[in-house]
Amino acid sequence: MGRLVMKFGGTSVANIDRIRNVARHVKREVDAGHDVAVVVSAMAGKTNELVDWCGDASPLHDAREYDAVVASGEQVTSGLLAIVLQGMGIQARSWQGWQIPIRTSDAHASARILEIDGSEITTRFKDRKEVAVIAGFQGINPQTNRITTLGRGGSDTSAVAIAAAIHADRCDIYTDVDGVYTTDPRVVPKARRLDKIAFEDMLELASLGAKVLQVRSVELGMVHNVPVFVRSSFDKPEDIDPHGTPPGTLICSEEEIMESHVVTGIAFSKDEAQISLRQIEDKPGVAAAIFGPLADANINVDMIVQNVSEDGKTTDLTFTVPASDYNRARDTITSSKGKIGYARLDSATDVSKVSVIGSGMRSHAGVAAKAFKALSERNINIRAITTSEIKFSVLIDAAYTELAVRTLHTLYGLDQA
Ligand code: ASP
Ligand code: MG
Repeated sequence: MGRLVMKFGGTSVANIDRIRNVARHVKREVDAGHDVAVVVSAMAGKTNELVDWCGDASPLHDAREYDAVVASGEQVTSGLLAIVLQGMGIQARSWQGWQIPIRTSDAHASARILEIDGSEITTRFKDRKEVAVIAGFQGINPQTNRITTLGRGGSDTSAVAIAAAIHADRCDIYTDVDGVYTTDPRVVPKARRLDKIAFEDMLELASLGAKVLQVRSVELGMVHNVPVFVRSSFDKPEDIDPHGTPPGTLICSEEEIMESHVVTGIAFSKDEAQISLRQIEDKPGVAAAIFGPLADANINVDMIVQNVSEDGKTTDLTFTVPASDYNRARDTITSSKGKIGYARLDSATDVSKVSVIGSGMRSHAGVAAKAFKALSERNINIRAITTSEIKFSVLIDAAYTELAVRTLHTLYGLDQA
């Protein structure tokens, strides 16, 4: 007997039929003797609708009220799933974030979980064999007593945090794909599902564009060492042997992975924009003059490339920002033009970032060099490069994204046989 958290995303609870399907998954685990806490998202599309409503009501709205509105999607699905479970003869109770409570910071719309009191839930496991059905995505700030939300995709984070709080053996993330792939299978049909992936590699994959899990949930899993299992919610619940190993990907600590490749996966993101400042003065304080105001404007700068000046006087500096922040970034820079001192601002929004990830890179040389050669043979021009211990990224023209991803996927031996 064990203790499980089962998390179901929006497509898995999109209507009452699918909620019934979810309930059968839950029943399977309850029948196998496990303590079960379920975490649910809002019905597919619901959160977007609620976000739009806030915008329609007033383009500039109070973040506390935004959270009051958008947290409601999960309230509905948690109640509905509890009703369906009860109808099947399973003890179940719904829980909103404030009822547990899930205490968070007061950063509305992107709150961080501070603390979860799991005692009432575990007491009910013992005393009544009761399934806890928890609304994902939401919490409460203890100082203000207001409802908060954790940022888009935040139910994943709710699930992993709850798993840590109740000392679950595993956190199962049921979703519309059956695991984590070496890259997006829609782009590379030969992409392979990974049986296991280390937290660190998953963190990079998620941060660099793979959309399977919210980044924060992977961080939490790593910190608290909660094994996270990504699996499909569309498999027929009755066909699954609760004691067997279903298809899926286990995200776990590196030590648990026996055989590992140098490269684990390839991520890409088309939501990038490049800004280049030409002929800036090569003197102390210039970088601070550029990136200070961007930081103040809460714009996340990603890649930075500065050339060494030939004459010791002027140089060029290139950096990237999320495409959604491009206009703000350009305005921020142009309004500090006097302070920075540059001759020209060039920019490109039709660029994408392709990243190669693998903790095996730590102990292997020349991994990136191979990629540069392969891309050049395909005539793909690299605009900027960044590297770290376990990944490197290249910025290229967006039109070549698919070709680059496919080329690298084959190059590093990731293609399915
Ligand atoms: N419903 C929220 C969203 O769409 C949270 C989640 O699904 O994880 O962002
Ligand atoms: Mg999600």
